[in-house]
Amino acid sequence: RTTEQWKQIDTAHHMHPFTDFKALASEGGSRLIVKADGPYLWDSEGEQILDGMAGLWCVNVGYGRKELAEAAYQQMMELPYYNTFFKTTTMPATELARKLVELAPPGMNHVFFAGSGSEANDTNVRMVRRYWTLEGQPERQVIIGRKNGYHGSTVAALSLGGMSAMHTQSGLLPGFAHIDPPHHFQLGWGEDEDAFGIRAAGWLEDKIKEIGPEKVAAFIAEPIQGAGGLIYPPRTYWAEIQRICNEYGILLIADEVICGFGRTGTWFGSFTFDIKPDLMTIAKGLSSGYQPIGGVLVGDRVANTLIEKGGEFYHGYTYSGHPVASAVALANLKILEDEGIVDRVGSDIGPYFQGRLRELSDHPIVGEVRGIGLIAGIELIKDKAKHEFFPNAGKVGTLCRDHSFRNGLIMRGVYDTMVLSPPLIVTRDHVDEMVGKIRRVLDLTAKDVGL
Ligand code: PLP
Repeated sequence: RTTEQWKQIDTAHHMHPFTDFKALASEGGSRLIVKADGPYLWDSEGEQILDGMAGLWCVNVGYGRKELAEAAYQQMMELPYYNTFFKTTTMPATELARKLVELAPPGMNHVFFAGSGSEANDTNVRMVRRYWTLEGQPERQVIIGRKNGYHGSTVAALSLGGMSAMHTQSGLLPGFAHIDPPHHFQLGWGEDEDAFGIRAAGWLEDKIKEIGPEKVAAFIAEPIQGAGGLIYPPRTYWAEIQRICNEYGILLIADEVICGFGRTGTWFGSFTFDIKPDLMTIAKGLSSGYQPIGGVLVGDRVANTLIEKGGEFYHGYTYSGHPVASAVALANLKILEDEGIVDRVGSDIGPYFQGRLRELSDHPIVGEVRGIGLIAGIELIKDKAKHEFFPNAGKVGTLCRDHSFRNGLIMRGVYDTMVLSPPLIVTRDHVDEMVGKIRRVLDLTAKDVGL
């Protein structure tokens, strides 16, 4: 088939996630990605693209890892599938649980597997509510998340999340509430950042008091808010959140789906920001996206109650602990460890990447560059001196993203923040290539908006 034929068939039959179907068709359909290696993708026209997003924040070890293909092949030949429902397990699932507990913060000794981050967050909702019921406080049902937080697309996960467009389309479930994120650049500009961090954490306390502490079950947040605009927490924020959760006895869920497995330069964002969660959501980098797998790391507080008092927990997925996905995840964790990738992000390539990106702060439409390790956001602004944002947030971001795609770099636009989250194996040369392309793309975007 020609590229054109692929596009026509795709447009006719394939409904893409988070896509305006009609607009995509009118633009001629989707770009066909045909292969990948390291941090590069190639489309059907032979064009090479630097993947500044590691797919969807997930291909941590980069593309083309034969060890992962080999692990999948071997496992498929041995045992392609068996479930973990019937008092049965498989070696990969059990070994992966053990390995994850070894990597997790102390006091997290159990794992519940799912097929994705969304499913894992649904699991969190059910576990948290079950926990409080078993603890004799069944009225503790409300889970507080953050505006523009993203925790997945299932109905419970989108309710944990704070994407209002999703709520409008699908209906926000009862029992969920949201507070503003600690977005210093937008919500606290001019205010001392440490003071703002405390004030932003205080919105959680305000919300708990508004709802009634006896009704609040948990708070969920990403260590760094990703899809909601790459919001980097002020250094005072998480300690204060932790204090508030402790004071009111509510459970803390860290959604590590993006931050986990090296992205911030440690194994989990919770280590980077010294968070002590009761539950952690994992997915994406767990298998570097080579297989769909997610899960919840369960701390002793919740696990002990569920185990000791719970009886049967009526929850699980056909693919919970899928042997092939687990085998691939294990091989992926081995690569991350053997090649010292996580340490390298923390001590070498991460700081280099952040430093080079900050050089772009001199660009007229760059308001702020923020991030850590290999995750960063570049927030675009109309007038730096007046701290004036572009009208219709997202319009200029989309323009910039389209320029980027045309110039051989995948860089995502979230509202007017350009987001980068490249494979963790990028070299300094790749980073230099990325920064060179970004500057060009910023120039083109600035020209379009008359700056
Ligand atoms: N949590 C976070 C922080 C995410 O970024 C995502 C996906 O982007 C999810 C959960 C949902 O994961 P999945 O798409 O695997 O369901």
